[in-house]
Amino acid sequence: MKRNHHFLVFIVVLVSFFVLSVPSLEARSLKGLFIMIDPGHGGVDSGAIGPGGLTEKDVNLRVAKYLKQLLLADGAKVMMTRDTDLSLTLPQRLDIINKYPLDLFISIHHNASLEKSVKNRGEVFYNAFDENTSRKIAEYISKGILANGLANESIVIPGGFFLLRNNPWPSVLTEAGFMTIPKNEKLLRTGKSLTTEAEIIREAVKKVFELPPLKVEAISTRPAITSSPYFNIIFTSNKPLVFAEIKNQEYCACEFGFEKLPTLGNFYCLYNQTPLDSGEYNITTLFKSKDGTSSFPGKLKILVRSSQIKISLNPISDFIPEGFIGTFPISLSLKDSNGSPVREEKPFQFSFNSKIATSSTRSDGKAIILLNLDGKQKEKIDLSVSITENSSASIQIPVRNSERTFILGRVISPLAPKGLERVKIKYAPNKAIFTIMGGYFFCELSTFFGNLKLTLYPPPGYKSDAIVLKTGGEKFFRPEIVISPVNALFFGKKIAILADRSQDPWIRGFVKSLMNAGADVTRLRVPVEAEKPVSEAIKQANQIQDLSLIISIKQEDSKTISLRHYHRGGTGKKILDTLLQNLLKEKYKPSIAVSPGSDYELGHSGASAVVISFPTTVKFEIAKKLLDELYIILGNLI
Ligand SMILES: [Zn+2]
Repeated sequence: MKRNHHFLVFIVVLVSFFVLSVPSLEARSLKGLFIMIDPGHGGVDSGAIGPGGLTEKDVNLRVAKYLKQLLLADGAKVMMTRDTDLSLTLPQRLDIINKYPLDLFISIHHNASLEKSVKNRGEVFYNAFDENTSRKIAEYISKGILANGLANESIVIPGGFFLLRNNPWPSVLTEAGFMTIPKNEKLLRTGKSLTTEAEIIREAVKKVFELPPLKVEAISTRPAITSSPYFNIIFTSNKPLVFAEIKNQEYCACEFGFEKLPTLGNFYCLYNQTPLDSGEYNITTLFKSKDGTSSFPGKLKILVRSSQIKISLNPISDFIPEGFIGTFPISLSLKDSNGSPVREEKPFQFSFNSKIATSSTRSDGKAIILLNLDGKQKEKIDLSVSITENSSASIQIPVRNSERTFILGRVISPLAPKGLERVKIKYAPNKAIFTIMGGYFFCELSTFFGNLKLTLYPPPGYKSDAIVLKTGGEKFFRPEIVISPVNALFFGKKIAILADRSQDPWIRGFVKSLMNAGADVTRLRVPVEAEKPVSEAIKQANQIQDLSLIISIKQEDSKTISLRHYHRGGTGKKILDTLLQNLLKEKYKPSIAVSPGSDYELGHSGASAVVISFPTTVKFEIAKKLLDELYIILGNLI
């Protein structure tokens, strides 16, 4: 029996070798391509560990070394992020990637699962920004994994992993099967399985690069800077182009033109057809050539700097009361010759009372100038501001006596020590004002008002508040009001919610609390009509930079509330364990369990994720109570 068994293995090996070697005879050599191979993990980071102690870092490195030999033999230039058992962080790997003009980046990993009954599945992730080269290679690798029996099934996933999301080149990350499955671990110990894997990747690369990759480059310094509202940038291409898609990342009503220049060779000109406001433009480009190859999505930064800048100066009040001591704010904003805001940091110089100082606008072209007044000013104050020799402005602010009480206040918060903008302040029935940059606000009231009640309506994330200011009838009143965030822990945190419309009843309140607490919440679109709605939604999540957490909420035909996390644990597991503990403390009755899950959204995003699955019969109060509790613990855990 043993003999027979070996014989069978021998045939399988022969067959797979045959299948693999035939296309390589026809395929083009990889001469001229620059490929980087990244063996995942290394050094102190073992990666996954098989039941027999085999470490992922070793398997990854062995596959990578085979692959390097194969690609070198095909004529490619090959580099590895590591070729020994070396610890490398993801940012360190990215630094290496950024140094070289690569045609392809391949990261090699092997999967792990805590589930005993997990199917041996190949997972090939690709750079989600590149639906061409990256995706095609991932698809060929996935097919190869299946065809050569490295796994029983294999899927291709637009990946949000750090090295894919931030990669400036076509890139893929392979997980060729689960090394936590004992049978598979055994196979991975043998050289055969590893060379097969390397062969599969090599063949995928050869198929996709059968035709040389399309390379389109801009001939200009980056960022491109122009002082007129029109620009043009010349591109060269190694092949004639038949299609160009030019998009501005932020919304702008500008239209771009792209034309071949009437010169010899492949020279093209990109220009704008409508004038551009001053500011920074981030443009993405995608090109296709006649032979069907596409370029990697390119990024182009264009800075439009109008030479004529208009400075507008607005004092917080149109006069300064006599004897006023303290800081008096004047807001400054920049407009270009088209009258559009100049969204750029600009240094400027200002002078008042024969003192000269310098400052700079924020990236939105706004600044606040603070005049320190000693109460001795009479009649008027002269302020002049200049940016360049051509752009300057000056104003006079009268100093006069007033019968009314002059209130110049400021709103700050521990999270916004420089002052909180856009706080609405109601100071009298039907009278309200907004704080400006620096958190300043101004109002005037009849003298001797005694106690002044202010009602504050801050932006989301802060507590609204009503305060009473006690006064003794002073002429100037300069309150500084400190308001607290609802929950400092949620500030700047990005959370994506994955749930179809049927979950709305309990989600609405939950999402609102998160938003009011200052979290940046995205409700992912779940296109129910699509073939794979969840994968579409995750694709959207993977486009969000620095996403902290995905919360997936659904209903299933079950009697238990099921809380599921990624099998390797991490933040998702921590959140759910804490949630369960707290719910039990609260004497939460329904049956509920935390477990690793195999839901698509858990394993296919760069962010942490949790799945909350209610029974189809769940009652509103039960679901709401759980999400209320989740809201309470979340801030501390993400
Ligand atoms: Zn790994």
